[in-house]
Amino acid sequence: MSSEDISTTTVFVQDWLCFDNILGEGAFGEVKLLINKRTQEKIACKIINHDKYKDASSQINREVVIHKTLDHENIIKFFGRRQEPSKEYLFLEYAEGGELFQLIEPDVGMPSGSVQLFMKQLLCGLKYLHTKGITHRDIKPENILISAEGVLKISDFGMATYFRFKGKERWLDKKCGTKPYLAPEVFLRPYRAEPADLWSCGIVFVAMLTGELPWSLATDENAEFNQWNNDMYILNTPWSKLGYMALSLARKILQVDPKKRLTLDEIERQPWMHVHFNAEAPEEDTVDGTSEPRCKRYNSMVAEETILNREKPTVTLSQPNSSLRQSTIMQTVKTTSNDHLCFSQPTQNDNWMVQFTQSPITKDNFDNLIKRMTRFYVSMTKERTMETLCSILDSLHLTWSVDVNRAVSITTTDSLKNQLIFKINLIEMDKKILLDFRLCKGCGLQFKRKFLKLKEYFINN
Ligand code: ATP
Repeated sequence: MSSEDISTTTVFVQDWLCFDNILGEGAFGEVKLLINKRTQEKIACKIINHDKYKDASSQINREVVIHKTLDHENIIKFFGRRQEPSKEYLFLEYAEGGELFQLIEPDVGMPSGSVQLFMKQLLCGLKYLHTKGITHRDIKPENILISAEGVLKISDFGMATYFRFKGKERWLDKKCGTKPYLAPEVFLRPYRAEPADLWSCGIVFVAMLTGELPWSLATDENAEFNQWNNDMYILNTPWSKLGYMALSLARKILQVDPKKRLTLDEIERQPWMHVHFNAEAPEEDTVDGTSEPRCKRYNSMVAEETILNREKPTVTLSQPNSSLRQSTIMQTVKTTSNDHLCFSQPTQNDNWMVQFTQSPITKDNFDNLIKRMTRFYVSMTKERTMETLCSILDSLHLTWSVDVNRAVSITTTDSLKNQLIFKINLIEMDKKILLDFRLCKGCGLQFKRKFLKLKEYFINN
C-alpha cells in the first residue's frame, strides 16, 4: 500500500468528490464521505447495493419515508436520495466525530459531564421523534453519531416505525432492535413504543458511565438481569461503579415494569441530569455545585483517566456552530439526481487532495477528515506491519482474510457469543503506518476491547 491509498478520490458529480476510504459498513452496503472541492462541505453517502442485497428495497424505502420527514439538531439530516437499477445512494449529514462508542473506554466509560450532555441531547432527539409519533427501536451507541462540534446525532432509521397516528397510539408486536438494549417487555409483546426506547437509553446511559453493558438479554433466564430484577445487584459491576444519583437514575429508567418506568420528561427532571460536574476534581455527584457530595463512591471514571480525557478531548462539547451550508448541499444533491454518477473513474487524486487540504496529506489532516479513536501508528515498513499483524492474529486464533479493498477483515465472536466483524486498514502516512480499525458488525464496546488487546500485543511485539 502506498500513500495514494489515503488520498484516493473519485469524481462523484460536478464539484463533489468521493473519498474512497469507507466511513462505515451497514447491512446493505457502505457509507462513504463526499467532499465539495470548492466549498469543502462534507456529506455522508450511504451506498446500497441492490444486486448483492435483493431484499434491501423495502427496508430502505421504509427508512427513507421516515428519515426524510425529520429535521432536528440531534438527528442526522437526510438530504436526498438517488436510485439506480442496481445501486442507490442516500445523502446524509456527515457526523465528523464518528460513533459514540468510540468515546467510551471499555470498563471505564467517559467523564460524567460528557455523559450528562450526551444524555440531554439523546433525550432531546428522542422527544422530537416521539412527538412525531415515531419510535427508533434500535437506540445503541453504534447508532449514535457525533458531529464535528461534538453534538450528538441519532442515526440509522432502518428499524424506525410510526407508533402514533392522528393521535391514536398503537402497541408494537415486532421484536426488533439489538439484544442487550431491548426492554424486557419487547420479549413478551405487544408493548408500548416510548418506554421501550427509553429503556434502551437507560442501557446507553450505563454503558457511557461504566464502559460495560449490564446483561446480554433482559430475560429471566439471564443471571445478571435476574439479579437486577430481584434487587441483588448492588455489589456487581456495572452498578458498583455508579455514584448514588447515577444509580438511582439507572434504577428508574431500567424499571422492569414499563408503567412504572420514568417518562422522558421525568428523566429530564431527575437530579443527576442537573448536577454540575466539576471538570478538574475526581467525580462525585453534587447538586448545583453547592451541596455536599452525595456519595463516597466515584462513578466510572478514576481521576487520572478523567484528567487524561480532558487534556486530550476527542470532541469539543460546545453548542453547535454549523459550518454546513445546507443550501449548497441541497442544490448539489438535487443536481446529482439528474446527472450520471460515476464511481469508477479516479481523478488526479493527489493533486486534488493537496488543493483541498492546502497541504500534503499528513497524519493530522487525515485524522481531521475521518476521526476515529480505534487507530494507532507504528514505525515499521508496510510489509513488516502486515507480517506482525498476521502473526498476532494467528497467535490469537482469530480468523482473518484480506478483502477486496485490501483491508484485513476479522470475523470472531465476542464474550457474549455474538458475532463480531471488524476491519483493519494499513495506511502509509508520514513514513509511518496507520492501523485504522473499523467495526463492521457487532457490539462497539466489545470491538473496542479487541482493539485494545490487539494494540497491546502490537506494541509489545
Ligand atoms: P446496520 O447494520 O447497523 O443496520 P446500516 O446499514 O443501517 O447499518 P448505518 O448504521 O446507517 O448503516 O451506517 C453504518 C456505519 O457507517 C455507521 O456505524 C457509521 O460508522 C457510518 N455512518 C453512517 N452514517 C454516517 C454519517 N452520517 N456520518 C458519518 N458516518 C456515518
